[in-house]
Amino acid sequence: MPHPEFSATFAAMNQADLDRLSSGIRDVHDFPKPGIIFKDITTVLSDPELFHLAISGLIETAGDVKIDKVIGIDARGFIFGAALADRIGAGFVPMRKKGKLPWQTIGKAFALEYGEDEIELHKDALHKGENVLLVDDLLATGGTAGAAVELISQLGANLIAVSFFIELEFLNGREKLGDDVRIEALLKY
Ligand code: AMP
Repeated sequence: MPHPEFSATFAAMNQADLDRLSSGIRDVHDFPKPGIIFKDITTVLSDPELFHLAISGLIETAGDVKIDKVIGIDARGFIFGAALADRIGAGFVPMRKKGKLPWQTIGKAFALEYGEDEIELHKDALHKGENVLLVDDLLATGGTAGAAVELISQLGANLIAVSFFIELEFLNGREKLGDDVRIEALLKY
C-alpha cells in the first residue's frame, strides 16, 4: 500500500501516530462495486487508541475557534462527528439521507463515486452566524460534502472548516466544495 501524505495542518500530531492510524485502515477491493477500493475504517473505530487518535487529529482542524455545532454526514460521519463534538463541548447535528429526519427539512441531491443520493438537514438544526464544523470519514468525488456545504450555507451558519479522516486526492473532490471553504484531511491517498 502506498505511504499516505499527511497534511501540514496536523503538525501537532506525532508522525508515528499518523502512521499507526494509516496502518489501521483496511483496504477492501471491489466493494461495493468492481474497481472500487473501499477504505474500511471499522478497524480504526474498534481500536480504542486509534479511535482516540483519529478524533484528536480531527479536533485540530477547528484550531482556536469556538465551534457551536459539529455536523456529521450519514452514516460514518456520525461516528467521528459525534465523538468530536462531545470532546470539544459542541452540539451535534446529523446530515441524513433522504427520508430519515422526522421534522421539516431542506435537501440536496448529488452524485456519488458509486451511485446517486440525497441528503437532508432539519430546517432549524443550525442558526445564522453559528460556528460549525462539517465532518465525514472520507472525501471521494466531493458530491456528498458539496451538497452538505450548500445546505449549511442555506441556513446561514458560519462554516469554519470541512474535516475528513481520509481524502482520496486523485478524485479531486475538493473542486466541488468551492474556493472559500477550508478543507482539511488527516490522511491523504
Ligand atoms: P463522495 O460524495 O464521492 O465524496 O463520497 C463520499 C462518501 O462516500 C463518504 O461518506 C464515504 O463514506 C463514501 N465513500 C466513497 N468512496 C469511498 C471509498 N473508496 N471508501 C470508503 N468510503 C467511500
